[in-house]
Amino acid sequence: MIGAGVVGLAAAWRLAEAGVAVVVVDAIGVGGGASSRNAGLIDAPGWGRRPALDDVLKMGSLAIYERLADDGADIELDRCGRVAAACTDDELALAAAEAAAHDGVHLLDGDALREVEPALGPAVVGGTWTPGAACADPVAACAALAAAAQRCGVRVIATARVTSFEPGPQGGARLGLQDGDHIDAGAVVLAAGAWAAPVARLLDEALDVPTVPVFGQMWATIPLPAGTLRTTVVGLESSHAWQGGAALDGLPLTHDAAGVRRTRHLYGRQRRNGEVVFGGDRIRLAPADHAATDPGAVPVVRDDGIAVNRAHAAAVAPVLGSAPTARTWAGVMPFARDGLPLIGPVPGVRGLMVAGGLGSSGFNRGPMAGWLAADLLLGRDVPPEVATARLDRRG
Ligand SMILES: Cc1cc2nc3c(=O)[nH]c(=O)nc-3n(C[C@H](O)[C@H](O)[C@H](O)COP(=O)(O)OP(=O)(O)OC[C@H]3O[C@@H](n4cnc5c(N)ncnc54)[C@H](O)[C@@H]3O)c2cc1C
Repeated sequence: MIGAGVVGLAAAWRLAEAGVAVVVVDAIGVGGGASSRNAGLIDAPGWGRRPALDDVLKMGSLAIYERLADDGADIELDRCGRVAAACTDDELALAAAEAAAHDGVHLLDGDALREVEPALGPAVVGGTWTPGAACADPVAACAALAAAAQRCGVRVIATARVTSFEPGPQGGARLGLQDGDHIDAGAVVLAAGAWAAPVARLLDEALDVPTVPVFGQMWATIPLPAGTLRTTVVGLESSHAWQGGAALDGLPLTHDAAGVRRTRHLYGRQRRNGEVVFGGDRIRLAPADHAATDPGAVPVVRDDGIAVNRAHAAAVAPVLGSAPTARTWAGVMPFARDGLPLIGPVPGVRGLMVAGGLGSSGFNRGPMAGWLAADLLLGRDVPPEVATARLDRRG
């Protein structure tokens, strides 16, 4: 298993439960990539009128987080629900369409939404309420997934970067590690998140695992009184812009290739320790950016983007306007080139499975993506929707 994010750890756990001997390697430690740097939002819209892969990944992952919590892991799982706030009639129409597609999503007017989430300000004209949605602490969730995997016998090598990848002497693959050691594996799951493409190229320079590294960043307030936010909160401005054609290169990004802002994206929640965390910007990393190829290169926070996101948050939830910022951080999200998840074998390479491409909602969708990749490797039946995530989906 290359990568100890939520995807790799969940896949390793699933394989080990089935009796497979698994070694997980990660360049920078358990959850060191995007999996510990995210907001911890978990959407759960229900199974949909016609379940799509997204529904399978979201609802399945929530069940996995619930299992961790039921087994005693304190991952701060909170079934707090989610409000998606519309500030214009166009955004409200989008909310109505989302509610019409999912039994678990309800359309509410502004006053009804403020009853659910009193922090919402008068600018909010309505939106959706998803009572089944949740949140959890990303660092604790990664640790719990690693512990569950280790209890089933998984060996985690927490700081070992894969620097070479070649066919093994007796089939399978040989992974060379930075410290000079190597691992011979019968099969490899590439769960390297935003760095899946450069890792695949270690095996074959021509191998195209179509992932795109995308910069994201967040800020946190000082601890605020419990209940300052009751639910997770997202804004619908960006979804409306993306639906209207502002998706850049087919991806839901906030900035174009020239670095010009095209929309504002907003999501956040209050943590159990009182901090309110919010984020939103999504900017494609240039191939020459060190963070695009090296998981150890921490991306630099862009203060102008934090200021825009703070102002957006204050417009939606005015109580946040006066709350001091305590810290900021950035990470790299693993988008697939066409924006859809990547789960399945790499065509033409025996024993190599990819699990990733989960973009800005991989904490939400990652555990189930890992389980499904494991099930494919085990030759088990998977839901038919998983075919839409195959790497050869374009035929
Ligand atoms: C700021 C921010 C906010 C986000 N907010 C949310 C949210 O609220 N909800 C949500 O659902 N999602 C959110 N996401 C997205 C989510 O975090 C990711 O989609 C998800 O964590 C991806 O998991 P992963 O396991 O695929 O990748 P990662 O967690 O990035 O794991 C990949 C691992 O591969 C390792 N690796 C890479 N190259 C090598 C190598 N050569 N050798 C060994 N190891 C290697 C890396 O070190 C890394 O640990 C956010 C992301 C960011 C950055």
